[in-house]
Amino acid sequence: MNIHEYQAKQLLKEYGAPVARGVAITSLDQAESAVADLPGPVRVVKSQIHAGGRGKGTFKELGPDAKGGVRVSFSAEEALANIREMFGKTLVTQQTGPAGKQVNRLYIEDGADIERELYLSILVDRETGKVSFVASTEGGMDIEAVAAETPDKIHTIGITASTGVTDADAERIADAFELSGDTREQGKTLFKSLYQAFVEKDMSLLEINPLIVTKAGDVQVLDAKVSFDGNALFRHPDIMELRDKTEEDAKEIEASEYDLAYIALDGDIGCMVNGAGLAMATMDIIKLYGASPANFLDVGGGATTEKVTAAFKIITSDPNVKGILVNIFGGIMRCDVIAEGVVQAVKDVGLEVPLVVRLEGTKVEEGKAIINDSGLNVIAADDLDDAAQKIVKAVKG
Ligand code: ADP
Ligand code: MG
Repeated sequence: MNIHEYQAKQLLKEYGAPVARGVAITSLDQAESAVADLPGPVRVVKSQIHAGGRGKGTFKELGPDAKGGVRVSFSAEEALANIREMFGKTLVTQQTGPAGKQVNRLYIEDGADIERELYLSILVDRETGKVSFVASTEGGMDIEAVAAETPDKIHTIGITASTGVTDADAERIADAFELSGDTREQGKTLFKSLYQAFVEKDMSLLEINPLIVTKAGDVQVLDAKVSFDGNALFRHPDIMELRDKTEEDAKEIEASEYDLAYIALDGDIGCMVNGAGLAMATMDIIKLYGASPANFLDVGGGATTEKVTAAFKIITSDPNVKGILVNIFGGIMRCDVIAEGVVQAVKDVGLEVPLVVRLEGTKVEEGKAIINDSGLNVIAADDLDDAAQKIVKAVKG
C-alpha cells in the first residue's frame, strides 16, 4: 500500500525527521486559509498523487508548455493561482503511465533554501536479505539517469537486522553523502530515525528524493515516498487509515476484498489461474504466442465458489478483455469448484468474449462435466500450450 507525500512526511516527523511546514488541501475552499497558514513568501504547491516524477510531469488539460506538478511560488497570489490551475487536473508523469492521475489533493509547503539535493532510500534488498540504504549525492529529479549512466555514484549500505543502524553504518551513509560538521551529525541521527520508522511500520520502501542540505547546513526531508508491506498492514490500523482508494485500481480494490491476488495489466487476455507460479507461466506463454495478458490473477489454493465467481466477474468487467483463459491445475484447489464459480459468474453477468478453459488435477472429470452440462460456449483445451494458442487465436482471429 502506498501513501501520499504529505502523509509520509507527517509520519516521519513523528520519528523526529526534519520536514518543512505544510498544509494539505482536498478542496479549493481550503486554498486561501492553507496559503495564509504559511509565512511565505516562498511556498511550494505540490500535487499529491501516488506516483513520482511530478515536478517534470505535465497536465493533460494544460498542454506541454504549462509548468509541472510541483510549483515553487514566490507570493501568496502566485501560490493561489497555481493551486487553482492544478486542482482536479490530470497529471502525467513517467510513473503514472499515459493515462495520468487526477490531482485531488495538493500540499502547500514552506519553500526551502536548497544547497544540495541528495538521494536516499531504504528498501528490502532481496539479494543480501537485508534492509539496505541506497545513497547518492546526485539526488533530485534525474536519479534514474544517474542510475543508468553513472551507477558508481550510487552506494548501497546493508544493515544487519540484529543490530539496526550502528554508528559505523551511519558513518558510512554520511560518507556516501559527503556530509561534514554539524550537517553530518544531523544526518546520522536522521538515518537511525528513518530506519526505526521503516522497521516499526513494516515499510517495503522509503524513498527520500531529495534529501536536502539547506544553505544553513541543516538536513531536511523534501520529498517522501513510502510503500508498506500489504501482508503486515493488519498490524497497523493507523496506517490503514491513510489509504486513499481513489489512487488505486477499482478492480484491484474489489479483488483485495475477496483476498485475491490480482494486478491489472494493459493487455487483452484475461487470465484466471491458481498459484502465482502458474499465473506467471500462463502470462509468459500468452506473450510467446503474440498476445498480452490483461491481468495477473491468482485465485489461490483453497478458493470457494464465491471467490472464484468474484474473480471471474472482475475479469469480465474489464472492457479491455477480449478473451478469457482459465488455467487451473487442481491440487488443493478443486476443478469442480472452479467450474462452478465460472458457471455461476456467467449466469450472473453473461459472457461476451471467447472463453478457453484448461482444467487438470483434482476433480478434473467433475469440473469438465459441470462446464459441459452448463451449455456454456467454452473452448476446451488439453494443456497449457494448447490453451494459450487457442485463446490467442480466438482473440486475434
Ligand atoms: P517529484 O519527485 O515527484 O518530482 P519532489 O517533491 O521531489 O517531487 O519535487 C521536485 C523538486 O522540486 C525537488 O527536487 C526540489 O528541487 C523542488 N522542491 C520540492 N519541494 C520543495 C520545497 N518545499 N522547497 C523548495 N523546493 C522544493
Ligand atoms: Mg522527488
